[in-house]
Order: sequence, then C-alpha cells, then structure tokens
Amino acid sequence: AIAFIGVHKYFGGDETNPVLTGIDLEIRVGEIFCLMGTSGSGKSTLLRLVNRLIAPSSGAIRVHGRDLAKLDPAALRGLRAQTVGMVFQDFGLLPHRTALENVELPLELRQVPPAERSAAARLQLERVGLAEAADKHPSQLSGGMRQRVGLARALVGRPDILLMDEPFGALDPTIRRDLRQQVTELVRRNGITTLLVTHDPAEALAMADRIAVLRDGVIVQVATPEEIVAHPADAGVADFFGGAV
Ligand code: ATP
Ligand code: MG
Repeated sequence: AIAFIGVHKYFGGDETNPVLTGIDLEIRVGEIFCLMGTSGSGKSTLLRLVNRLIAPSSGAIRVHGRDLAKLDPAALRGLRAQTVGMVFQDFGLLPHRTALENVELPLELRQVPPAERSAAARLQLERVGLAEAADKHPSQLSGGMRQRVGLARALVGRPDILLMDEPFGALDPTIRRDLRQQVTELVRRNGITTLLVTHDPAEALAMADRIAVLRDGVIVQVATPEEIVAHPADAGVADFFGGAV
C-alpha cells in the first residue's frame, strides 16, 4: 500500500505558494488508482513523491508501511529499482542507449547478470510488441514506441507498485486502447498496485478502482468511478466527467 499522511509540498522555499496542500490518501494493494486534475494541479509532483525523486516539505509518505524519510540510501535504491516502476510523462529514456539497453537498466541497478537481464528485457519488449525495435535508439522510434519502451522498462523488474504519468498520452486512439487493455490485464494479473495519472476521464472511468481529483494541490474528491459520476463533489468535477459518460 501507499499512504500519504498530511503531505505538503512547495518548491524553492516558497511556502506561500504550495504545490500540494494537506494530502491524505491511502492506495490499497493491487488497486488501480487514477489521479486526475487540470494541468499544474500537482499530479506529477504527487507521483514523484512515491519513489522519492522529491521529498515532501512536511508530512509523510509510507510505502508498504515504511516511512520513506527513514530509508537509508541503499534501501532507497532498492525501492526505486525493485519495488516501484515508473513510466514518465516525457518517456525518460536514455538517448544514447538502445531500446533493449533502456529496458535492462533497472536490472543493471539490481546487478542482475548481463545474460539474464538481456533475456528478461527482450521478453518484456516482446510483450509490448517491440521485439524488432530492440537495437534501435529512442530517436529512431515513434512517440508511441518510445512510450512502450518506457512501459517495458517499468515492468521488467516485476515491481509491485507501478507509477504511470500519462503513459498513453502520445499514442493514437487505437494503440492507446490496446495498450490500456494490455496494461490493465497485466497489472490485474500480477496484483500490481498502480497509480495512474491521466487527463482522459473516459480512461479513468474505464480503468480505475478509485479516482482522486486534484485541484490546485488539494484533493477535491476520492471515489469509485460509479460514485464520481453519480455524486460528483462539485460542479467542476461534474463538468469534468460529464462529457465522458
Ligand atoms: P500536467 O498535467 O501539466 O502534467 P501536473 O498536475 O502534473 O500538470 P505538476 O507537474 O505536479 O503538475 O506541477 C504542479 C505545480 O508545481 C506547477 O505549478 C509547477 O510549475 C510546479 N512545479 C513542479 N515541479 C517543480 C519544480 N521542480 N520546481 C518548481 N516548481 C515546480
Ligand atoms: Mg504532469
């Protein structure tokens, strides 16, 4: 499980301009949890707190019951390489590495032997339909292909938590639907706790067990798709999901 307990976040010492204010959230094991909200509402910031790419200004984040502030550097590396897989909004691929080498990265960090990690990475690339692209560099791939490399890299270490920041954003609608289905199946089958940022209300309603709506760094509603459609917290939320049903 992932727990946010009274989390505040501001950047550069600017306390008067917080990006997140008083976030309390508990994401259950095996749950697909969608984060929604307008641009700049703090979704990516919330996600980055989970693998400690950034630290909260106050409050605590617990992953599987462990307070991230209390982890030593080795445990933090373990968290990033082993427990938590992340698909970035901007792909986050290393340009000088091939697709295969990008996917191998988390296993390298875990010091898995070369033959083993290259086999595992190849298998994962196959699973996202990119077997042929293994030796290409990111610049030689389309946006959608890069996104799938990012996904393969997030999944190769068999994480039990998956963080996805607009993972389907750059894809055309058909591929988007296919990949969304594949990811849902995969995380369900493996019981992976999934925190998914999306702009697309239809996507959230289709995939999520629960949805949180963020506005200006505050959570306005946490509810199941059914609840949020039937009982939106306010006119803004109603408007947001109104077009999707
Ligand atoms: P989008 O939908 O556009 O991706 P978002 O909800 O993911 O938006 P965040 O990236 O979390 O939004 O950013 C929330 C706010 O925090 C924005 O105003 C942004 O400018 C600010 N912010 C994010 N990261 C930093 C940083 N490293 N330094 C200063 N401000 C930041
Ligand atoms: Mg973002």
